[in-house]
Amino acid sequence: MSDIIQLLPDHVANQIAAGEVVQRPASVVKELLENAIDAGATNIKLLLKDAGKTLIQVIDNGKGMSTTDARLCFERHATSKIRSAQDLFNLHTKGFRGEALASIAAIAHVELKTKTEEDELGNHIKIEGSKIGSQDFAATPTGTSIAVKNLFYNIPARRNFLKSDAVETRHIIDEFQRVALAHPEISFLLHHNGNEVYHLQSDNLRKRIVSIFGAKMNEKLVPIDEQTDILSMVGFVTKHEYSKKKRGEQFFFVNDRFIKSAYLNHAVVAAFDGLLEQGSHPSYFLYLTVPTKSIDINIHPTKTEIKFDNEKDLYAIIRATIKHSLGQYNVAPVLDFNRDSNLDTPYDYSKKALASAPKIAVDPNFNPFVKQEQKRVHIPVKQEQDWEVLYANLEPSKTEQQEELFENESKRDTGKTFQIQKKYVLSSIKSGIVLIHQSLAHQRILYEEFLEAITVKEANSQQLLFPVKINFSSAEIEMIYTIKSDLENAGFVFDEFTKESITIAGIPTSITESQISQVMEQLLEDINLEIPDASFSHFDIMAKSFAKTLAIKTGKYLSEKEQETLVHDLFSCKEPNVAPNGKATFKTLTLHELDSLFTS
Ligand code: ADP
Ligand code: MG
Repeated sequence: MSDIIQLLPDHVANQIAAGEVVQRPASVVKELLENAIDAGATNIKLLLKDAGKTLIQVIDNGKGMSTTDARLCFERHATSKIRSAQDLFNLHTKGFRGEALASIAAIAHVELKTKTEEDELGNHIKIEGSKIGSQDFAATPTGTSIAVKNLFYNIPARRNFLKSDAVETRHIIDEFQRVALAHPEISFLLHHNGNEVYHLQSDNLRKRIVSIFGAKMNEKLVPIDEQTDILSMVGFVTKHEYSKKKRGEQFFFVNDRFIKSAYLNHAVVAAFDGLLEQGSHPSYFLYLTVPTKSIDINIHPTKTEIKFDNEKDLYAIIRATIKHSLGQYNVAPVLDFNRDSNLDTPYDYSKKALASAPKIAVDPNFNPFVKQEQKRVHIPVKQEQDWEVLYANLEPSKTEQQEELFENESKRDTGKTFQIQKKYVLSSIKSGIVLIHQSLAHQRILYEEFLEAITVKEANSQQLLFPVKINFSSAEIEMIYTIKSDLENAGFVFDEFTKESITIAGIPTSITESQISQVMEQLLEDINLEIPDASFSHFDIMAKSFAKTLAIKTGKYLSEKEQETLVHDLFSCKEPNVAPNGKATFKTLTLHELDSLFTS
């Protein structure tokens, strides 16, 4: 048999390699931006047309390339960044594979203009499908401009595979943000189809984050700063009350390189230790510097995953540092970060026998505030302690107070409260004053009560004298039927399901008969909104929905007794600081802050 093995021609090899490096326009953006940074640029412009499908151009003021380098840079394995395999263990640049430009030039029309400081004239090269079309001298500023046109023009399958402009633009913006966040000292400009999308001045990190994510971000940031022998970490996390339903602004940079790490992400989330609502995510911008020798960036072709020598130590440091910073910056005096974290786990669903029928109790004179009174003795000691911190100055001594709480709750003196504009309740605390949003606070209280009722305790139900028949659409009935047993756990008793109506014979004690249809409607709406997120529990949605519907509203007058009850019950909650919707339930003003209002 004759010899059949041949070496692939370069342009074919480059096209194959390109498949690995360039998946979409955003990959080109990443490579070009990184090259500009490696070239020492302080000013980088990114110009796009049609989500990068027609044009991706990066213009930098970096060191530029000589005539020979300008030609060589498109060769495979042409790199100025490493010379030996040993250099791989001491990388200080983003690139090192010498593959990006060769790959890009294999699958697009590329035009390069570049000039070094020393040269009078620069170079202008056109290259298509790995073939140099022209190379001329040209007048051009110091630095480099690379225009990549008609990406995948010679690989139709790839081109057709690209997503809509909106999706590809999103990917590009993600890459752009990562690079811009990694280098706040560099100014960036991003234009898309002639419109300015970002104009970022050289700035400090906080300002860079704010100019990318908007002015609202500023108040959300908690600074992080820690130096140890194996790791230095600076950056920001967002306060827990600003956590998001969608995992969004989460950035880890290691030695200025954006990376993804589920493990380190876990360390950050763990630092929030029970503060996050189920299914919500904090934002973070964390910059880790580790010795270059302790990481291996080479395990992933697009280099967003890296391997650490000492992952476990990093985990511990990250978690502890963030936890500490959150503790320091949290305005809430009720938080105690040394408490037993077992107590922070959500209500234990498993403790409740789901099938058990709710107890029926008729209570026509139901009043939510009276009920709170009776309930108090059940509140675990631990929470009373948290609550107590806030009122420490008003009470004779901690232990005395605790005993009193359990012996005769109603005797407790919380100090004066005031209702303001039928919206807020003001009360004094050890360190100053606390201003409580009555409706949001009540939502938090009811939410925790419902959640507990649904998941842990046996729900109290009141039997209706006359069962109530409510009409629904068939889709709604279907929906209610699927969560029937959850609703029963919450205290509903159903009599009959037909095609267009449901008959209800019993309801949770915390609801009045006139509120039934309102509660059900709101619940259906909330379930519809949440359903795309399948990980969400019905219990949680139900508890939130009920709390929203039933909480006292702004505009409701509260007696002094009711105000006190509200304050007490709020600070008996597991997470008093935020309403179920994530908004703050109260703000504190310290004496110091009050004083500063009067000194100018
Ligand atoms: P790598 O970045 O891995 O070295 P690339 O294919 O991205 O490989 O680039 C090849 C070489 O071209 C780089 O090592 C660098 O010397 C040069 N180069 C690329 N882009 C620029 C730029 N914007 N300014 C100056 N030199 C550049
Ligand atoms: Mg590169």
